[in-house]
Amino acid sequence: MTAHTSAHASVPVAPELVEFRREVDAWINENFPAELRTEEKQEEFYQYLPRYPDGEDFQLWKQRVVDKGWGTPGYPAEYGGAGLSTEQTRIVLKAFVENGAYNPVQGMGTSMLGPTLLEYGNDAQKAQHLSGIAHGTVLWCQGYSEPGSGSDLASLQTKAEDKGDHYLVNGQKIWTSGSLWADWIFCLVRTDPTTKHDGISFLLIDMKTPGIEVRPIQIISGQSPFSEVFFTDVVVPKENLVGELNKGWTIAKRLLQFERDATTNNRRQLAGDTRPVGEIAKEYVGVDEQGRIADPDIRARVVKHMMNFEALKLMQGRMLEATKAGQGPDASTSVVKNARAQIQQEREELLIEIMGFNGLGWEDNGFSQTELETTRAFLSNKAMSIFSGTHEIQNNIIAKRMLGLLDHQ
Ligand SMILES: Cc1cc2nc3c(=O)[nH]c(=O)nc-3n(C[C@H](O)[C@H](O)[C@H](O)COP(=O)(O)OP(=O)(O)OC[C@H]3O[C@@H](n4cnc5c(N)ncnc54)[C@H](O)[C@@H]3O)c2cc1C
Repeated sequence: MTAHTSAHASVPVAPELVEFRREVDAWINENFPAELRTEEKQEEFYQYLPRYPDGEDFQLWKQRVVDKGWGTPGYPAEYGGAGLSTEQTRIVLKAFVENGAYNPVQGMGTSMLGPTLLEYGNDAQKAQHLSGIAHGTVLWCQGYSEPGSGSDLASLQTKAEDKGDHYLVNGQKIWTSGSLWADWIFCLVRTDPTTKHDGISFLLIDMKTPGIEVRPIQIISGQSPFSEVFFTDVVVPKENLVGELNKGWTIAKRLLQFERDATTNNRRQLAGDTRPVGEIAKEYVGVDEQGRIADPDIRARVVKHMMNFEALKLMQGRMLEATKAGQGPDASTSVVKNARAQIQQEREELLIEIMGFNGLGWEDNGFSQTELETTRAFLSNKAMSIFSGTHEIQNNIIAKRMLGLLDHQ
């Protein structure tokens, strides 16, 4: 049998994977409820994240996907997954989007903590937490950043003191996405104040524990997706420590790779006007006698952007398809994260310029809904080069891990 070649690159795709993709497509088309196949319903789902909408159609879709194990396709079946290989997992997640559907089980538990627990958690922790993640019944948030400890994350100060049968946690996290609704938080805590990286541990904390206070932060787009989280004498059972005491930094970095992989490959950004930039430009700027975008400067920049966008798709495709079974994400996630953030922001800056006054709306007054959403997407997606580690920090990782440069170079 001949191996198929992907449209993205000359990486051969095994025939059984081509057949698997066909089966996945067929299953999605048969099971994705007709009522959810509208742009409006899709928006509703993404607007709600990290919570889930209540509607019956959504619950039906979620239940079907959960029963199939495809919300978390790579998790072993005993933990609610489908036990699929890395390549098959990619295929399922991609097929959701390409068939106009979506994975109804999403969040930091699914894409970040789950894979990390599979590598570093003990059997009891896997048994306790993975099934709730896979079934989409338990929501998680990420307690990494602190005031003064963002890029220099290892300087974090939230401390967990050993009190014999439990840890006592005191300190503060910030920018904690989804913490208003999360059931649990995975936290980096300082368990040895005398050393930096080797004094950090990885702790799982129930958000209902007394002593935890969540204070929402409002951002420029008008939303409030993250909060400050304060810990005052929070009692955490010893069994909630993942991995060894003071060895949390290695686990933290691994989780960040899963995070970058998910935010670049699976995350849908706030969209606004989703048409190709060239089409939007023709509408707002007008066309010349040859039918081209009338303004030559904008025309040149639109073309450059479109070329960058095509190059990004090729790179993402190559990286996804080159993934071998059993391998998780690696340092190359930093390359894709930076490229995607840069191109998304480039698109939105172009759109605001192209739309002129119409790109400056905030409320309903004479602006279309799409125009308002485009403005908010322009503002909101500024965060893409900050969360999961800033653009500069990714460049540092690329320099060290991929180019082999030393820290001081
Ligand atoms: C939308 C959003 C959601 C987030 N969600 C979460 C979350 O759920 N959980 C969580 O823990 N955190 C979250 N964060 C926080 C995020 O991880 C931090 O904002 C990020 O790591 C940067 O840290 P900082 O804000 O403290 O900036 P700083 O670290 O103070 O950086 C300021 C500037 O200095 C630059 N800089 C710093 N150090 C270096 C260096 N060594 N070399 C070159 N340049 C450097 C940075 O690139 C940046 O431009 C979120 C952030 C955003 C925007």
